[in-house]
Amino acid sequence: MKKICALLMALLLSLSAGCGTIDPDEAQESIQVIAMDTAMIFTAYGVNSTKADYAAEEEVYRLEAMLSRTDEESQVARLNSQGTADIDAELWGLIETAMAYSEATGGAFDITVAPVLLAWGFTTDEYQVPSQAELEALLPAVGAEHIRCLGENADATVTVELDPGTQIDLGAIGKGYASDRVAAIFEEYEIPRGLIRLGGSVLAIGDRPDGEAWRVGIQDPRDPDNAEAFAAVLNLTDAYAVTSGSYQRYFEQDGKRYHHIIDPATGYPADSGLTSVTVVTDGTQGNGTLCDALSTALFVMGEEQALDFWRSDVYDFQLVLVTEDGRVVVTDGLTDELTKVEGNGYTYETVS
Ligand code: ADP
Ligand code: MG
Repeated sequence: MKKICALLMALLLSLSAGCGTIDPDEAQESIQVIAMDTAMIFTAYGVNSTKADYAAEEEVYRLEAMLSRTDEESQVARLNSQGTADIDAELWGLIETAMAYSEATGGAFDITVAPVLLAWGFTTDEYQVPSQAELEALLPAVGAEHIRCLGENADATVTVELDPGTQIDLGAIGKGYASDRVAAIFEEYEIPRGLIRLGGSVLAIGDRPDGEAWRVGIQDPRDPDNAEAFAAVLNLTDAYAVTSGSYQRYFEQDGKRYHHIIDPATGYPADSGLTSVTVVTDGTQGNGTLCDALSTALFVMGEEQALDFWRSDVYDFQLVLVTEDGRVVVTDGLTDELTKVEGNGYTYETVS
């Protein structure tokens, strides 16, 4: 026993000497993951950082397998091709949440825009401009009212039915939901601080090790290929920030640019005068999903309607809008967190 104690003491001494001033809570792990068609980076601090990162990786693969439209085996793909299917209660919960956001945004956010996305080729990357007649034929099947729950089953699945012609696409909410799930895993592993980045969906957990806020750049939509070009920089602690922009995916035909955020009312890419919308909330779980849905919806709405929606206080969030005419519009709850970027050609406005 004495011997073991002495050994332990020696070990402890050597550890403390060897580690010097390194606090085990400041251990850090960062991994990159490609999932859901997105480059993701999970950075975790603390003694469980490695475990948390790899558990998060597993989780995003699980979600990808559930939500993908192109993987024929996914639950979403099965529901779309069969028109009716037994799906996990978790997936039904996400669809119900999406339907609620549709209702709240007057249909600007709508997961049933799926057949229209397919017609434009955004689902398969085989881009084309559909005819007006083709789009008009698809629009009657767009709308949350075309989704029904037929009942809950003993095996915890839910039977869901879509009207003929209706399909769903959770692309505008999937990464936000994934960020909420990663947040839950980081909490389980008691990660004190970290940064979760799923493409344009970011969650800042705690603050940086130096006590400063995390810096999250809002991509300059005019210079999308330059990772160092920002319209503004946000300083975030325990917050979600999700950006939707027309620069994120588009194709060009006959000199005209067509992007991937569709106005469900017309079937055409939203032409709202905005180039990006960033929605910011506190770090409460569930807000990742909310931010993702709203960033898409408010992009469709355009500046005026988006600000009216913000003022209506239906949800608690702040906004950074980047406009085609070179303005960065910030809601007044975010002025302290926003750093302007000198010389990027934008003018800054605060609205209340
Ligand atoms: P990203 O996927 O680039 O992060 P968004 O969150 O804005 O950007 O989601 C855009 C995706 O959502 C599109 O690629 C498409 O799959 C789908 N989508 C496009 N328009 C809408 C809409 N009005 N409502 C719901 N989903 C949409
Ligand atoms: Mg979105």
